Amino acid sequence: MVITDTHCHLYVEAFEEDLDSVISRAIALGVSRFFIPAIDSGYTQSMLHLKKNYPDQVFLMAGLHPTHVKENYKEELEHVKALLAKGDYCAVGEIGIDLYWDKSFFREQQEAFRTQIRWAKKNSLPIVIHCRESFDEIFEILEEEKGEDLRGIFHCFTGTLEQAHRAIGYNMKLGIGGVVTFKNGKIDQFLGQIDLKHIVLETDSPYLAPVPYRGKRNESSYLREILEKISIIYNKPIEEIARITTENSKVVFGI
Ligand SMILES: [Zn+2]
Repeated sequence: MVITDTHCHLYVEAFEEDLDSVISRAIALGVSRFFIPAIDSGYTQSMLHLKKNYPDQVFLMAGLHPTHVKENYKEELEHVKALLAKGDYCAVGEIGIDLYWDKSFFREQQEAFRTQIRWAKKNSLPIVIHCRESFDEIFEILEEEKGEDLRGIFHCFTGTLEQAHRAIGYNMKLGIGGVVTFKNGKIDQFLGQIDLKHIVLETDSPYLAPVPYRGKRNESSYLREILEKISIIYNKPIEEIARITTENSKVVFGI
């Protein structure tokens, strides 16, 4: 069984001590493909190091995370552009708009999102979207940029059924993670109405650990808990969920 974690930050400080065991534990449970979203230029070296150690399992993205869009965002965008020019990146992400933490750079977040979407299209790469309290603002930009050349993932999808259909309409898969196991997570109530071909799995490690690890450090092996919950929602064996969601990840990333 091949399970794909389409979103995990395995290069951050939380994994500094025991990354090799984290990855071995995941691989032992079948989680053997790791897609790695960027945050900002401060993490580039750690990401490249991770790729060097796990060249066949790890696939890097380049992008500027919306909560890291600050005064210096233009320099940060230049860094993303330079990385994309070197190639060897599987997606532009994570990018988007976050109005939960800080609204003061909203205009800059919009500009960074739009710019990075255009780079993704130019490089024929998918985008990986971070959306927090910003569905309308994200949809507004996707509406302008939509087309055959735009595809990607709505990472950590936590919207309504209607928002799910709208996201799918823009060629987006829904990234489903730990929230689906939460009692108050809501998406478990309608997810079964969405065709599995639109779903990919993710942990967002080290954040958003699924039940029963909620509140603890998340890691890719916990994708099993997410897989089990989705298998119950769709009433299908976990092997089939793993196979379909891995296929979907191949469609998005081309890997
Ligand atoms: Zn993330």
